[in-house]
Amino acid sequence: MVKKMWGSMAVLFVVVLSLVGCSNAEQSKSADGKIHVTATTGMINDIVKNVGGDNVETNALMKSGVDPHLYKASQGDISKLEDADMIFYNGLHLEGKMIDIFEKMSKTKPTIAVTENIGEEELLTPDDESEGNDPHVWFDVSLWIQAAEAVEEELIAFDPDNERAYKKNAEAYIGELKELDDYVKVQIASIPEQSRVLVTAHDAFGYFGKAYNMEVKGLQGISTASEYGSKDVSELRDYLVENKIKAVFIESSVPKKAIEAVMEGAKEKGHEMEIGGELFSDAMGQEGTEEGTYIGMVRHNVDTIVKALK
Ligand code: ZN
Repeated sequence: MVKKMWGSMAVLFVVVLSLVGCSNAEQSKSADGKIHVTATTGMINDIVKNVGGDNVETNALMKSGVDPHLYKASQGDISKLEDADMIFYNGLHLEGKMIDIFEKMSKTKPTIAVTENIGEEELLTPDDESEGNDPHVWFDVSLWIQAAEAVEEELIAFDPDNERAYKKNAEAYIGELKELDDYVKVQIASIPEQSRVLVTAHDAFGYFGKAYNMEVKGLQGISTASEYGSKDVSELRDYLVENKIKAVFIESSVPKKAIEAVMEGAKEKGHEMEIGGELFSDAMGQEGTEEGTYIGMVRHNVDTIVKALK
């Protein structure tokens, strides 16, 4: 009798365990049946939107014009990260003030750096190695394709039932990115070689320069968190004067006073330049506009650069 009771209790125990198991699995999808993703930058959010399609609901913490290097998560952001099923961020210290939060979130849910699969040999390291690797990989479209593949892989791992949909979406999006990569190559190559110099407020375009064969100069280093001094201003000024650079560019997420100081200095030395236009470096344009997508943002930058320098 006692033995029988233990037996049925054991069965009950197994049943309860498997019920708990079921309800956990159910929790991975919210009431709307979608996977809820929180991404840090707009560029990452755009990948998740395109690859996730109808199965995923995603939002970005950082809106248009926001500088990710200096970004601190608000209480509202923490709630969004806590409520998410998955988190995607750039990594390589782009979100320099959020590292502890990612560490904490990774204990309870997939918290993924989209740059995780990019090989060390493809990463750039600035002269000052203490700054770590350059995080601005999205400006080499072929590297951003690897980021899209990382998102595809992680969505499939989390939600294998929809593997086919994720694969199909990723294939279509990566196809568009390959076309974009070709567009950038052709356009930048149309600028005469001696004019192929891109001068911006901070060093966001290192990968762009390497991939598309363009000289790149930034006043600040790879993070806007580093201060620039009068020496940086005078060095860049002298470079512009010596090389008779026609145009410099401002960035939507970085105040323009720094680059204006350089222009002013060059003017005093008798060399006048113009602002070639505004580039989107670390944040996309307004939501709902063409520049509010990754592809639109890159096209805008390339068209702006070509128009000013050709
Ligand atoms: Zn940056």
